[in-house]
Amino acid sequence: MDTERTNFIKQIINADIESGKNEGKVVTRFPPEPNGYLHIGHAKSICLNFGIAETYDGSCHLRFDDTNPEKEDQEYVDSIIEDIKWLGYDWKQNLFHASDYFEDLYNYAVDLIKLGKAFVCELSADEMKSYRGNLKEPGKDSPYRNRPVEENLEIFENMKAGKYDDGTRSLRAKIDMGHPNINMRDPVIYRIKKVSHQRTGDKWMIYPMYDFTHPLSDMKEGITHSLCTLEFEDHRPFYDWLLDTLKTPCHPQQIEFARLNLEYTVMSKRKLLQLVNEKHVHGWDDPRMPTISGMRRRGYPPKAIRDFCDVIGVTKKDSSISMSTLESSVRSELESFCPRYLGVVDPIKVTITNWEDGKIQEIEAPLHPKDESFGTRKLFFTKEIFIDRDDFMEEPPKKFFRLKPGGNVRLRYGYVITCDEVIKDDKGIVVELKCTYHPESFAGKTPEGMKKVKGIIHWVSATHSKKVTFNIYDRLFISPAPGKEHGGDFHKDINPESLIERIGYLEQELIGLEKEKCFQLERTGYFVQDKDSTTESLKFNRIITLKDTWAKLEKGK
Ligand code: ATP
Ligand code: MG
Repeated sequence: MDTERTNFIKQIINADIESGKNEGKVVTRFPPEPNGYLHIGHAKSICLNFGIAETYDGSCHLRFDDTNPEKEDQEYVDSIIEDIKWLGYDWKQNLFHASDYFEDLYNYAVDLIKLGKAFVCELSADEMKSYRGNLKEPGKDSPYRNRPVEENLEIFENMKAGKYDDGTRSLRAKIDMGHPNINMRDPVIYRIKKVSHQRTGDKWMIYPMYDFTHPLSDMKEGITHSLCTLEFEDHRPFYDWLLDTLKTPCHPQQIEFARLNLEYTVMSKRKLLQLVNEKHVHGWDDPRMPTISGMRRRGYPPKAIRDFCDVIGVTKKDSSISMSTLESSVRSELESFCPRYLGVVDPIKVTITNWEDGKIQEIEAPLHPKDESFGTRKLFFTKEIFIDRDDFMEEPPKKFFRLKPGGNVRLRYGYVITCDEVIKDDKGIVVELKCTYHPESFAGKTPEGMKKVKGIIHWVSATHSKKVTFNIYDRLFISPAPGKEHGGDFHKDINPESLIERIGYLEQELIGLEKEKCFQLERTGYFVQDKDSTTESLKFNRIITLKDTWAKLEKGK
C-alpha cells in the first residue's frame, strides 16, 4: 500500500465534500495530447489524478486531447494507454477523446457568436500579434470585432465547409482587448487547418484551440476538479469566462500545481523527440529516456515510480527534483523483491591450477543472504572461472583487499584462492590469472596458519555460465540542467558514456528466469533482460547500481 499523504489539493477537495459541493463526488481526468510518449512528469500528473480518484472513491477519466492533428499519431495513443495501465491505473469505461466532442464544440462556438461573444477575424497571425499589446500596454480592437452576428455565423459556417485557406480567418472570443491578462484579449478559439485527423479523417477543416476545448470537455464529462500545471494559472480566467458565458450546467474547478522538473534530464516532448530523431538514443523506449516506456524497459518497477511521485508530493512551488530521489525509490523497491545472483560484467579468466581437470563441484547457495524464503540455487565450481577486472590489481594501493599477485581472496560461497601468476597479452593487458585454491577454506572457513581473508569477490564458472551482453546505462546528461550553460542547447551536455556495452558471463540458472524478472548481481547492481534479448543473443540491462555513485561526485563539486 502506498503511503497516503495530504496536500493542498486534497484539502480543497475535503472542504468541497464537507460543504456538499458536487454532491460529494470527485471526478478527475488525465488529458494527454497524443504527440509523444509519456514521461516521468506525466507520471506525476497520472499518480495525482488517479490517486485522488482512488482516495475519494471517485473516478478518473483518460481523455486524449487530440486537437492538433499534424503532430498526433495512433502510435502515441497506444503507448499512452499501455503506460498508464503499466503504472497500475484504470480509467474503467471512462476513455474519451476531445475529438468526440468536435460537433458539440462547434455548436458551442455558434452559441458564443449568437450571444455576441465571438467573431470571425481576418487579421493575419502577425497582425494579430501587433494588435495584442503586451504586459504593459493594452491591445487594440480588431477591425472585424463588430461584425454583425449573422455575418459571423455565415463566415464561420463557410470556414467549416472549407471555403477559405489556412490562416486567412479565425474565430475569436470577444472579451476585452484592454484586459490585464493577455489570454483574455479576444483569444482565438478556432483556426482553419486543412489537415486530416487520426480519428475524424477529413471531416473537419477547422479545429478548436486547446483553451476552448479543455473547459468544455471537462464540463461535458462532469469533471469536478480539473488539475493542471502552473503555467495554466493565467488561462483560468478564460476557462471560467467560457463556462460562465455559456451558462453550462456544470462548472469544474481548475486547480494548478507545480510541474515536475528532474535534474540530469530534459522533459519536454519536443526535446525528447529531438533525442530520438537525432539518434542520441535508440527510440522513445530507450532505457536512458525519462519516458515511462524507457523506464519500463530499463527495469524500473512501476511501484518505484508511484512511490517517487508520492515522495515528491504536490505543491504550488516550482522546483527541480534530484535524480537521486528517483533512483533511491527504484533501489529500495528492487531491494525488497530481487533475488541475488553472481555475474561478471568485465571478465578476466582465472585458472585454478591445483583443481582436477573436468571436476565440477555443485554448491548450493542462497538466493538472498538474509531471507531464506527466496530459496537456493546451484553454483558450479570448475577449473576455469571468471572474475571481474575491477577485483584484480597488479600494483594495488595499501587497503586493496581483493586479488593481487601473491595475495589471497575469497570467492563468494567458495574457496580462498592465491594468485600465483599473471598472464598478459602483447599489449600488456591482463588476460589470465593462474591461481591455487585452498581445499580447507570452503564456505567461510579459514585454514590453519592462514591469515583471515578480508576480501570476498564474485565469480562465475567459465564452463557452466552463459555469455551475455550487458548494457551498462548511466545518466543521459552530465549536467543537472542540460543546456543551461550553453544557451539552452542540451547537446553539449550529453553524456558520451551513457551506454557502455560489455560482454560478460552470468550463472546459468539466471537464463531460465522469466524475462521481465529483475535480479541483483551481488556487488554489481540490479539487472533485467532487455526486451530485444533472444536465446541466441542474450542482452541484460543494468537498471541501477547498488549505491548512489553520483552522490560522491556531486558532493565533491
Ligand atoms: P510537454 O511539456 O512534455 O510537451 P505537455 O504538457 O504538452 O508536456 P500533455 O500531453 O499536454 O503534455 O500533458 C498531459 C498532462 O500532463 C497535462 O495535464 C500536463 O499538465 C501534465 N504534465 C505534463 N508535463 C508535466 C510535468 N513535468 N509535471 C507534471 N505534470 C505534467
Ligand atoms: Mg499540453
